[in-house]
Amino acid sequence: MQSPANSSLFSSLPLNKALVDNLATMDYNEMTPIQAQSLPAILANKDVIAQGKTGSGKTAAFALGLLNKLDVKKFRVQSLVLCPTRELADQVAKEIRKIARSIHNIKVLTLCGGTPMGPQIGSLEHGAHIIVGTPGRIEDHLKKGRLNLDNLTTLVLDEADRMLEMGFVDALDLIFSLCPKQRQTLLFSATFPTEIQPLTERFMQDPVTVKVASTHQESTINQHFYQVNDNSERLFAVRLLLQQFQRESTVIFCNTKLECQEVADQLNNFGFSALALHGDLEQKDRDQTLVRFANKSAAILVATDVAARGLDVDALDAVINYHIAHDPEIHVHRIGRTGRAGATGVALSLISSKEAHKVIRLEEYLGQDINVEDLPDEIVLNHDIVKPSMVTLQIDGGKKQKLRPGDILGALTAGKNISGDQVGKIQMFPIRAYVAVHHKVANIALNKIMDGKMKGRNFRVRKLS
Ligand code: ADP
Ligand code: MG
Repeated sequence: MQSPANSSLFSSLPLNKALVDNLATMDYNEMTPIQAQSLPAILANKDVIAQGKTGSGKTAAFALGLLNKLDVKKFRVQSLVLCPTRELADQVAKEIRKIARSIHNIKVLTLCGGTPMGPQIGSLEHGAHIIVGTPGRIEDHLKKGRLNLDNLTTLVLDEADRMLEMGFVDALDLIFSLCPKQRQTLLFSATFPTEIQPLTERFMQDPVTVKVASTHQESTINQHFYQVNDNSERLFAVRLLLQQFQRESTVIFCNTKLECQEVADQLNNFGFSALALHGDLEQKDRDQTLVRFANKSAAILVATDVAARGLDVDALDAVINYHIAHDPEIHVHRIGRTGRAGATGVALSLISSKEAHKVIRLEEYLGQDINVEDLPDEIVLNHDIVKPSMVTLQIDGGKKQKLRPGDILGALTAGKNISGDQVGKIQMFPIRAYVAVHHKVANIALNKIMDGKMKGRNFRVRKLS
């Protein structure tokens, strides 16, 4: 093998040229550290355990591994990727499809809970090369004999820590037992709780372990810690900080579902546009919440740690810890969602004297002193609260009705009164679509969809608020 001049280039790997060329079109020029460390072993068909923080580029690491050895002519399930939630499975499938763009006729199928069985059964009958899904639903299909893994060559566990936390261990056991013994197993995780160890011992063969340090460069995240007296002062502090550090996208982390909902409700009472994201929401409401935050029609998301995993926002402007996390590693995770990829982020944590022990643990973990500041001076509250520039319209039609983003964009921009740059993110679901439009043209947009036709018919539409 020739020794490459720059070993962080994808072209230095034994990868299909079509894959490398396509990566360049995605602006993936250099490997991220976790990719550089894991891909040589992955491409050598070894079992690999890779630990790296959120946003480190784990998806492309396993996607390249499974795509590089896939035999397209053999129309059998060759790779199975297990993810903890539907949102994550959808994101992973999207990334695999993008990376696979240069290979023709690759079929990637997602199989997740919370979506109807019928269409999945149909899709399974048509076959697929790669399956991405949640353990519960995959287990269901396996038990009913609808999914056959005899030709599987790669098994991926993405966010293994979360899958264990969500109680998928039995489903995983059953899935493992039905995979061929001769296979490559890749396990990705942000954290490495002790419960993972037995899993890797049972189901992996001489795994290579790679780990990329979980702390961020200090320069990219400005951390501030503020002293609050008790719980009643926290909400006031959050209002002050939100106004001081006004941003387009802020996540507030709470430690419980109840607190999450309360904080969101209270902020809305004070004129902010906040949404709560926690495990008690119905799937449909979770979808809506994630859509509205990602398309910038809601500026504030109040979330629990588990629920925030489904968040697909590249870089948050600010993270606020309503309560500091129990565990320093979780703290580092939370704040790692801001200031990604060289951008500067802000992380603001509220601390009461009861939480002093957590601050000490965090200081030890970070290896740096934490300086607790006073809250900013009281500014005029309820003045100049930044309202989101976008509004979300929900259209009661989606992929099932063969509606496509282009149809919606076309309907909105037909004529002259709405321009393309006043239309934001368009997200398609099976029987629904969401489109963000600038608030100045929200009513015009609503009427255009209501009165106009897409795919030759009328669709119901409403403004979400
Ligand atoms: P993780 O699974 O580790 O949390 P992701 O795989 O979701 O991280 O990647 C995070 C972001 O980084 C995504 O937006 C992805 O498109 C981008 N990304 C991944 N690899 C590269 C690369 N080599 N160059 C540029 N961007 C990348
Ligand atoms: Mg990931």
